[in-house]
Amino acid sequence: MFESLKEQPADGILALIQMYKDDPRPTKIDLGVGVYKDATGLTPIMRAVKTAEKQLWEEQDTKTYTSLAGDPAFTNAMTQLVLADAVPLENVAAVATPGGTGALRQAFELVRMARPDARVFVPDPTWPNHISILNYLGIEIVRYRYFDEESRGVDFNGMMEDIKTAKAGDVVLLHGCCHNPTGANLNMTEWAQVVDVLNDTGAVPMVDIAYQGFGDGLEEDAAATRLVASSVPECLVAASCSKNFGIYRERTGLLMALSNNADGRKLRQDNMTFLNRQNFSFPPDHGARLVSMILNDNVLRADWMSELEEVRTGMLSLRSQLASELQRLSGSDRFGFIAQHRGMFSRLGTTPDKVALMREKNGIYMVADSRMNIAGLNANTIPILAEAIIDAGV
Ligand code: PMP
Repeated sequence: MFESLKEQPADGILALIQMYKDDPRPTKIDLGVGVYKDATGLTPIMRAVKTAEKQLWEEQDTKTYTSLAGDPAFTNAMTQLVLADAVPLENVAAVATPGGTGALRQAFELVRMARPDARVFVPDPTWPNHISILNYLGIEIVRYRYFDEESRGVDFNGMMEDIKTAKAGDVVLLHGCCHNPTGANLNMTEWAQVVDVLNDTGAVPMVDIAYQGFGDGLEEDAAATRLVASSVPECLVAASCSKNFGIYRERTGLLMALSNNADGRKLRQDNMTFLNRQNFSFPPDHGARLVSMILNDNVLRADWMSELEEVRTGMLSLRSQLASELQRLSGSDRFGFIAQHRGMFSRLGTTPDKVALMREKNGIYMVADSRMNIAGLNANTIPILAEAIIDAGV
């Protein structure tokens, strides 16, 4: 039977990682893979995570199954972290999932179960896995304009025109903060206008929040998600703990389905729990338990918040260093967008040819669409990158 399988498209970023590994040049710079790295190139385990793991090892006396929806200590703590008091807790149905990807996958499946003909509007560009999963599930995709190639900011007028064409029951996927792959984000005034369109059309928002704490701060990064959740009749939120807790491989995420009345909560909760059961039964517990231990303990939580803040401000500093180096070399402000963007990524806004040129000539590895992982830089590599960018004629 297996001979009838078809080849699957290779993951572009994974191929880039291999090319980087195979490059013998000691001066090579990896701006490809989407994980946080410190100045030494390491993706560290956060202090609070290590402490919680130690404590867990001492205290945990069973590894029996938890609950299909995940441990309520986790789902409640994460709901609180993302939504704070934006909506009453009794309106929120929530399940733990394997990472943010698992939350998105379950969310799309829930949409398909509830409304098989729903279309999902996604920003152009978006995280490629959104497209890939939607295609796999056979859900119709509509792309809305998002990135303005000229300013490297959001094409807000284009976005508004496009999402206005959504119909009641369609889904509009929104990146809650730190848009991947561009780094360009809406301001709160623009978010309020998006909310008006959602309410006018009856489209249901699905907020993907994978970088809370990586942009302007834990509360600031959740502000848009909270505004959306508190302003529309129904909403889905997929949250990832991979980046802000640095627990990528533990596969820790949360899916929330909200409505502005508590009546349907049980139906939503039962369907989401059913989906967990069908797809993987019990969600992974280790990462979720670490997250709930950290969020529910004042000392661990404070330590986690201060380390996350160091990570965030470190990336902001790299952004401003790169922008000012480019300003110095180019004698213009045209790279100011790098300091304006938020999160781990910035889209440089250049052609695949120039991306390839920088890779071949300077050993700089970025994704073909010119997405750079800002966390892949340090004080030594910033001048090298800036020179290569100018040299390539970007
Ligand atoms: N959404 C976006 C926009 C992402 O960038 C990512 C991670 N690259 C995810 C969701 C999912 O992350 P994970 O499954 O690793 O938690």
